Amino acid sequence: MSETECVFCGIVGGEIEAEVVHDEDEVLAFNDMNGRAPVHVLVIPKRHVANLEAIDALPDAVAKRLFAVASAVAEKLGVTEGGYAVRVNNGPDAGQEVFHLHLHVMGGQRLGMP
Ligand code: 5GP
Ligand code: ZN
Repeated sequence: MSETECVFCGIVGGEIEAEVVHDEDEVLAFNDMNGRAPVHVLVIPKRHVANLEAIDALPDAVAKRLFAVASAVAEKLGVTEGGYAVRVNNGPDAGQEVFHLHLHVMGGQRLGMP
């Protein structure tokens, strides 16, 4: 999918609405529109990167910020103590639906695998 058709690029550009939880220079976090846990936030780089195979297109500091923002979001939403999962669905077998790299941050209930 090209960047112009990418739903998450649309959210970054403001053309598609989202409930933003955290916004900084290179990273955005917003509620998943189909949340599967009391806390279910997606953390994305603002630059379009399809998946982990393309992560070298991100500056190292941005890759680090994705995880730091996941932690900040967990803190903000009160799930640090209870714990939370940070997950990347990468490719078809993992069920990746949106080909713009994102971390799922999920918490507020007991979480199992997968
Ligand atoms: P994945 O690609 O990791 O399987 O999941 C993509 C996630 O993005 C899904 O959990 C889905 O609910 C969420 N999602 C897809 N389109 C939108 C959207 O337009 N807005 C929001 N907030 N979430 C979306
Ligand atoms: Zn994109």
